[in-house]
Amino acid sequence: MTRFIFITGGVVSSLGKGLATASLGALLQARGYRVRLRKLDPYLNVDPGTMSPLQHGEVYVTDDGAETDLDLGHYERFTGVPSRRSDNVTTGRIYSVVLSKERRGEYLGATVQVIPHVTDTIKDSIAADLADEDFLLCEIGGTVGDIESLPFLEAIRQMGNELGRTYSMFVHLTLLPYISSTDELKTKPTQHSVKELLSVGIQPNLLLCRSSRPISPSERRKIALFCNVQEENVILALDVETIYRVPLCYHKEGLDIQVCKYFGIPHAREPNLTIWNNIIKHIIHPKGEITIAVVGKYMKLRDSYKSLAEALTHGGIANDVRVRLEWIDAELFELEDANRHLSHVNGILVPGGFGKRGAEGKIRAIRFAREQRVPYFGICFGMQMAVIETSRHLAGLSTASSSEFGSTGELVIGLMREWHSNTKVERRAADSDLGGTMRVGAYPCLLQPGSLAHSIYGTDCISERHRHRYEVNISYRESLHAVGLLFSGLSPDGILPEIIEFSPHPWFIGVQFHPELKSKPFSPHPLFTSFIRAAIAQSRLV
Ligand code: GLN
Repeated sequence: MTRFIFITGGVVSSLGKGLATASLGALLQARGYRVRLRKLDPYLNVDPGTMSPLQHGEVYVTDDGAETDLDLGHYERFTGVPSRRSDNVTTGRIYSVVLSKERRGEYLGATVQVIPHVTDTIKDSIAADLADEDFLLCEIGGTVGDIESLPFLEAIRQMGNELGRTYSMFVHLTLLPYISSTDELKTKPTQHSVKELLSVGIQPNLLLCRSSRPISPSERRKIALFCNVQEENVILALDVETIYRVPLCYHKEGLDIQVCKYFGIPHAREPNLTIWNNIIKHIIHPKGEITIAVVGKYMKLRDSYKSLAEALTHGGIANDVRVRLEWIDAELFELEDANRHLSHVNGILVPGGFGKRGAEGKIRAIRFAREQRVPYFGICFGMQMAVIETSRHLAGLSTASSSEFGSTGELVIGLMREWHSNTKVERRAADSDLGGTMRVGAYPCLLQPGSLAHSIYGTDCISERHRHRYEVNISYRESLHAVGLLFSGLSPDGILPEIIEFSPHPWFIGVQFHPELKSKPFSPHPLFTSFIRAAIAQSRLV
């Protein structure tokens, strides 16, 4: 039977609960256990799909087409276990289930209430879609004490009671602030946070304490005493220079051993941490450094491009170089010459994006990359803008544009009204809802033999994750091919261009999908590995 580990957070937000959960997952895996990781988000949105990346960070897409919280990206990057729709549950989704049941009369006349109807639905979602996993790690979003998270805490309290201590565990992540004037770590916020948890009936079994410096034995004793937790279950979570060191640090502090001891399962054998040691070796002592410019739009919150930044790091790991990222707001190129900001970089990447703002700046950056033979990687919107750029400046289509910007000009990028998903024909109209109406999730793509894309992947058919509304218009294929832009990847029915490449260029690739979502530090995505390799070659030229 699956054991459930519930991870809550206290004191302040942004303590890295997602990373803590992912790292614990990785450690249990390294001990040979099968894990699944899940996130409960207390907000009312049905999913984060319609939330601004500037507020909420990136939307992480799963193979089965769910738009989810970015923490699921950490889970996959640390464990390699593909996330599913069932792995992200929001209050909005819970209430839509409860309310539609109520409308169908399925509560048989009962007064529908938070307890038991909402909490039962939460419990069902926590336990849904599990097979033979040894552990389910379930992270509760938000900070203990938030009004919004109460039904979730009540649900996990009940589950703890029903499952008993053999099958459930509560882990609480807190912060030990350092006060420089007295040179000490303060334990009071942790004590208060645990009290807050106790007030909803949850006694944490293990505390993960984030701190900028080591804790003394007396501080550890004090935390254990006041929080009613065994001393060896007060685990220090020290700040580290790279997130990929977190599993190793937690192991050093005894996290996985304590979890095994708690559940009474064998722990004598050391976990196999070879992959993590290798990753760290490449990150800390790389052989060189290259610079990639990311020309995008949501620059104020780095989490907007979380998976992308990680995938570029993975490309660096594969090539033994440090990848320095320069984040440039595309609108800058609408005012200033691209040359000034891009002449020193070894590669240019235009990531996914939405809307007209900044689009012309991106097109200028792409033109620079194409003309100066700097490696170019366009992802989703970055592919669409590359098609507009080459259409305008090489194929003589001076009004080339996307229907995302209006219905004028030569629409080389257009709204997709109909396409085949795995199970059905999907249809959309210009006035469809914005939420949940994009082409989202994994779709297959056939690669053209002899193309750069084919040689990078080394296979004929791939599957990658999508999240977009517009598509490159296949009817421009011949005219663009004539100027060197090859459609090297197509949907199996041959209608949707999935990959483009500019053949006369050393490395110029655009992809309609998001390869960054599938890259892992122990298995870097081939496109990122190849892009960084091309950037290294470019750096030798300048
Ligand atoms: N805005 C574009 C579309 O909807 C690209 C989306 C993206 O980059 N994810 O097609």
